[in-house]
Amino acid sequence: MWRHLTDAVREQQALFDSEVASWIDRYTRQGGKLFCGKGCSNCCTLAVNCTFPEALRISASLSALQSAKVREHTDRLLTNVREIADLKSYLRMHRQRIGYCPFLDDDCSCGIYQERPFSCRALLSTRESRWCGLDFAELSSEEKRAFVESLDRNVTSFPLHYVAATQDRGRALETETAENMASRFGFSLYGNLPFLVHLEREHHLSRIIPQGIGTTTSFLDQNGLLNPFLVTVDRK
Ligand code: SF4
Repeated sequence: MWRHLTDAVREQQALFDSEVASWIDRYTRQGGKLFCGKGCSNCCTLAVNCTFPEALRISASLSALQSAKVREHTDRLLTNVREIADLKSYLRMHRQRIGYCPFLDDDCSCGIYQERPFSCRALLSTRESRWCGLDFAELSSEEKRAFVESLDRNVTSFPLHYVAATQDRGRALETETAENMASRFGFSLYGNLPFLVHLEREHHLSRIIPQGIGTTTSFLDQNGLLNPFLVTVDRK
């Protein structure tokens, strides 16, 4: 039932990886510089989102240790998200209280590298890693101005320092994946990466989804899992 959706994700990821590699090659040949590499993990404190079929692939690939880390991470997320009222507060809370992605290994490499979602594949930094882990609210207005003025507006998702082209393409692939899911089930699910993986590992959500949007939404609601910052359910 899910196979064609998860296979399509794998094909799109392979295509995306080659597109990103070509983009990097062009950019660096023109003198551009990127700062991403193995062991550089500051962006792994960001709140990462994905579609449910992406989470489903990841869920199937996890070790027992990774599953336990997802469980701990999700408990912390659910405890802290209750008091949150707006997106800005959620993103700050996430950075300050939730900590690193549970898939980050002890050597600071991605433990699900082959399966990581489009949003991680898309993130390329045009600045040193300290800018990826920074809370910009802590900068003075002069520091913020100097940072923003240093960005190449033709390349970045201004006023951030990440590459716009790869992020735009990653979002388009997420939309395509969500549309594929909606064509199959009448609705799609999108949300926080570890949380969606947890929904599958602990609650086998892929078996509930085929019962329809009403059953799925009621299940999430009754189990205290329907938080708008963690999961959104979109009707076709
Ligand atoms: S999935 Fe991998 S790359 Fe993405 S945030 Fe987690 S550890 Fe980092």
